[in-house]
Amino acid sequence: MKTQRIVEILNSAAVDTDIVVKGWVRTKRGNKNVAFIALNDGSCMRNIQVVVDLQKISEESLKPITTGACLRVDGRLVSSLGAGQGVEVQAEKIEIYGTADPETYPLQKKGHSLEFLREIAYLRPRTNTFGAVLRIRHAMAYAIHKFFHERGFYYLHTPLITASDCEGAGEMFQVTTLDLNNVPKTETGEIDFSQDFFGKACNLTVSGQLEGELGALSMGQIYTFGPTFRAENSNTPRHLAEFWMIEPEAAFYELDDNMELAEEFLKYLINYALENCREDLEFMNKMWDNELIERLNFVVNNDFKRLDYTEGIEILKASGQKFEFPVEWGCDLQSEHERYLVEKHFKCPVILINYPKEIKAFYMKQNEDGKTVRAMDILFPKIGEIIGGSEREADYGKLSARVAELGMSEQSLWWYLDTRRWGSAPHSGFGLGFERLLMFVTGMTNIRDVIPFPRTPLHAEF
Ligand code: ATP
Ligand code: MN
Repeated sequence: MKTQRIVEILNSAAVDTDIVVKGWVRTKRGNKNVAFIALNDGSCMRNIQVVVDLQKISEESLKPITTGACLRVDGRLVSSLGAGQGVEVQAEKIEIYGTADPETYPLQKKGHSLEFLREIAYLRPRTNTFGAVLRIRHAMAYAIHKFFHERGFYYLHTPLITASDCEGAGEMFQVTTLDLNNVPKTETGEIDFSQDFFGKACNLTVSGQLEGELGALSMGQIYTFGPTFRAENSNTPRHLAEFWMIEPEAAFYELDDNMELAEEFLKYLINYALENCREDLEFMNKMWDNELIERLNFVVNNDFKRLDYTEGIEILKASGQKFEFPVEWGCDLQSEHERYLVEKHFKCPVILINYPKEIKAFYMKQNEDGKTVRAMDILFPKIGEIIGGSEREADYGKLSARVAELGMSEQSLWWYLDTRRWGSAPHSGFGLGFERLLMFVTGMTNIRDVIPFPRTPLHAEF
């Protein structure tokens, strides 16, 4: 007989049929006559209750069934008299696939702290919380592809190994097959990367954007969705060394179009979660963040506030708040500043635009004032920056002047600059950190708790 997932069984509630369920034991309780086993198979938050008549199946044979054990149950689906459940399984036969010694199995009934669960990240998907987070993570990944597909954006696979060192050189992980105990040197004493696998120094990508732009300037509208690596040695609750990023890039989009796309995108995703992940969101709301669903509804139903960086700085200076990092025009905003604007001042998501060019990347379109660029950051409650994007500089002269001004190597960027020589076009794009989105949608406050196996400084277990 075909195994059914618990979510299908509970939703179909096809009583008086024979079924097979397979899953992991959450709890077992009972009395002399009957045992109740709560079984979960990861398909939904809810468990299915297995009722065992001890006349039919001996208590002795149930002894090895403890929390964490994996079972196959053949039985009959019947309506349940118990409160809070429509159906239950009357067991005819139970096969134990794997036991879980209660002396050693770490996930016993009681609630565990998120810190403890991080240490056993290989088991935490078996908890209600991480089951919910990972199901929401899946739903969001699906909704991302759906959103772009519906709007005619093509999924472009940009490389993870790259030789362009154009973005924040200090933050990159090197990729090499050189023997670290015997690194070949050139005559002048530098590392001889010509002997390395790719014949030059390579890194893991920090962003697929530059290649994404090539896609936009040929296919019109593309998006990337893949892993991104940053060796930032900052132990914050919002940074991972390996995270997933979504980067749409569109030809003929100016900054306003870019803002509109980003706002529509975020609202679409959050709405998708509200409509499709209700049970999991309600659990997260109850357990971790009582304002979660209210906040998600608020974002879906309200316009984001758009304002200039310069106005933002004025508001922060006039706020009378004591910030750890003082604010001046020209400074990069810290999370405390972003959250003040969003949570205290405007009380809604904010799109901050036209940042000083010194604190933004070389490729952003320069404004006529000579001081600012057409950047946009989207700031969210609880998270701070969730999206960073811009209209790109499409003018060859201005772009190469900026590259030279910053002392960057035109040589390694030749292919990128070429797009501005032949058929250049206005275009824009942005990057959404997938885990930042998930923090917002799940209410988790530490980014380590929205990815199955977090990579952070000194942590690469599992
Ligand atoms: P932050 O100031 O928060 O470090 P950033 O300015 O470095 O962000 P971008 O380079 O614009 O960010 O990257 C685009 C998006 O990727 C960010 O808006 C954020 O959502 C996400 N992001 C950036 N760095 C990380 C990281 N280390 N871990 C997880 N997500 C990140
Ligand atoms: Mn950063």
